[in-house]
Amino acid sequence: MDYSDNRGIDLHIHSNASDGTFYPNEIIALAKKLRLSAIAITDHDTIDGSKEAIETGIPSEFNFLTGVEISADPPSSFSCSGSFHLLGYSFSIDDHILNETLYTLQMARKNRNPKIIELLNNLGFDITIKEVIDFVGEGQIGRPHIASLMVEKGFVESINKAFDKYLGRGKPAYVDKYRLECSKALEIIVGAGGVPVLAHPSLFTIREEKNFEDLVVVLKDMGLKGIEAYYPEHSKDKTSYYIEIARKYGLLITGGTDFHGSLKPDIGMGSGRGNFHVPYSLYENLINSV
Ligand code: AMP
Ligand code: FE
Ligand code: FE
Ligand code: ZN
Repeated sequence: MDYSDNRGIDLHIHSNASDGTFYPNEIIALAKKLRLSAIAITDHDTIDGSKEAIETGIPSEFNFLTGVEISADPPSSFSCSGSFHLLGYSFSIDDHILNETLYTLQMARKNRNPKIIELLNNLGFDITIKEVIDFVGEGQIGRPHIASLMVEKGFVESINKAFDKYLGRGKPAYVDKYRLECSKALEIIVGAGGVPVLAHPSLFTIREEKNFEDLVVVLKDMGLKGIEAYYPEHSKDKTSYYIEIARKYGLLITGGTDFHGSLKPDIGMGSGRGNFHVPYSLYENLINSV
């Protein structure tokens, strides 16, 4: 395919298999309408979105990569706050160990949600797990769904407020979730023939004496293959910095919007807040690496 007309890519998209609001077939239709040249559906701890997209059929107008976003613990020698997530691309969707491991993560989420609801009840909010399940329909439940229902019920003005006041880490209705060790997350992605990439590095902070480069060295040793340098929250300087670090350590550069449909209404697929663009060459480099 010829993408000399500078069509963009989006390698970070959530479907309603996790906390996106679009069905995989709707994501495919939108990617086609937006004339994107490559996409990946990267749901939290599940590959059901990718599987469904493939079953629906990928149009010949763009390229599709299997994807996942795994919440992991940072390496044990690092203390981080924020969201430490690993993206996986282009793996075999039938890989047994990958599927089994993701299943345990989904069960952990299932156990966590009633605990969040109990804490909200203790805070005086009238909300039940059944209401959340009915509200979400298909797919696995995450905090954004609970936040969204809290808005719907008039408990808070916005999803962000729900996180800031109640659901975010350290807040009164926060429940920690079981996470994979990052070495394990990298291992299962690589084991399934995939390419592991460090997601949105600006969304976590490394504490004290260690820095981002120290982390990259350790992760590369564990099998990391790339850094998500292009991300709507990254300033120009940050993007350039992550690109420079990726080049220095021989890692791939990737990018995507973290599209969540109406759960992140200000982020558009492929275009972020409007002027976001990820070049097609990054997709080519990624597939040429496997
Ligand atoms: P969970 O998977 O249940 O731990 O929820 C994590 C997800 O919540 C992230 O991937 C984001 O999609 C979303 N999220 C985290 N923090 C916020 C926030 N402050 N405002 C809105 N959404 C958030
Ligand atoms: Fe999310
Ligand atoms: Fe993430
Ligand atoms: Zn994401």
